[in-house]
Amino acid sequence: MGTTFNYDVVIVGAGPAGMCAGMYAGRSMLKTAVLERGAPGGELLNTEVIEDYPGFEHVLGYELAEKFASHAVKFGAEVKTGVVVITVRKREDRRFETITESGDVYISPTVIVTAGGTPIKLGVPGELEYAGKGVSYCAICDGAFFRNHTIAVVGGGDAATEEADFLTRYASKVYLIHRRDQLRASKILQHRALNNLKIEPIWNTEVERIEGDAQGLVHKIGLRNNQTNERSELAATGIFVFIGFRPNVGMIEGHVRHDDMGYLLTDANMQTSIPGLFAAGDVRAQLTRQVTTAVGDATTAAIAAEKYLAAIRDGVREPEIVHTGGYAV
Ligand SMILES: Cc1cc2nc3c(=O)[nH]c(=O)nc-3n(C[C@H](O)[C@H](O)[C@H](O)COP(=O)(O)OP(=O)(O)OC[C@H]3O[C@@H](n4cnc5c(N)ncnc54)[C@H](O)[C@@H]3O)c2cc1C
Repeated sequence: MGTTFNYDVVIVGAGPAGMCAGMYAGRSMLKTAVLERGAPGGELLNTEVIEDYPGFEHVLGYELAEKFASHAVKFGAEVKTGVVVITVRKREDRRFETITESGDVYISPTVIVTAGGTPIKLGVPGELEYAGKGVSYCAICDGAFFRNHTIAVVGGGDAATEEADFLTRYASKVYLIHRRDQLRASKILQHRALNNLKIEPIWNTEVERIEGDAQGLVHKIGLRNNQTNERSELAATGIFVFIGFRPNVGMIEGHVRHDDMGYLLTDANMQTSIPGLFAAGDVRAQLTRQVTTAVGDATTAAIAAEKYLAAIRDGVREPEIVHTGGYAV
């Protein structure tokens, strides 16, 4: 039997967005819970160095994560780790219940979803079988296991390009497999990767299967050139997959507007189509997904949630945001 808790605002996920929202909400004297299934940090824990967060020319991902978490806690947010949220739903009394895997229920008039995304899988034979045995979605976590190995990175965006470059610290050779004939990554990342002598791009090519050796570890990758249909095999002991993320929105019950990929649609105040339910960071439909955009969203979401709560205290049953930045009363 779980426990029922009451909060002003419940935040789902303790990545940069969740911790920033927690910091603002806590500082606004709201009773705030930040529920996190793992450790605080989100994707920062998968990022070695951040060089594009203002004021920090060079900061390790886990260090920035620790700073974010302690800042949120300092201002009163309760960051609860190891808590998996399975359902967020709005009740008839217009409050939300956020239900965890262990059966605890958090009741609150506002919820901010900052649950980020999950890596998209290739969906080829061998991928799940060899996950953790050569197949990886996290360079910083697993790169050191591939010292002096030949490995492959799949993808053509920022993550694939940056991580291919990072992995050359360990690997003797990194094949960068991309289904198109040029990368989608930002120019500076492309420049770094394509000028790295350890990286060899393989263009117009898709992974068809991943095979292991007698020890059950990855040792070759089946490829197909999507222009010529020619098939080939690549000897590699590791394959790092960076082909995108899916937003973590499975916990939201009831219709909430989203785009074709499932990213949550919000208004300028980060409110979703469900009044009182806000979204911030990578889970939200937007042009780019960075730490700066995550904390920017989260700032707006926390302040909008605070105004929403104030309107409820003023007796408004279902506050509606008006364009002047406040709520109609
Ligand atoms: C390899 C890599 C390198 C990057 N490098 C940079 C960079 O150099 N600079 C930069 O600005 N950005 C970078 N980014 C992007 C940046 O890390 C993200 O944009 C940012 O972390 C998004 O923050 P977020 O809080 O929205 O989501 P996330 O960081 O994804 O955090 C979401 C959190 O929610 C939790 N969660 C999800 N579902 C649940 C649930 N059901 N219950 C409880 N908790 C849940 C997750 O465990 C996670 O901790 C990089 C990303 C990657 C993958």
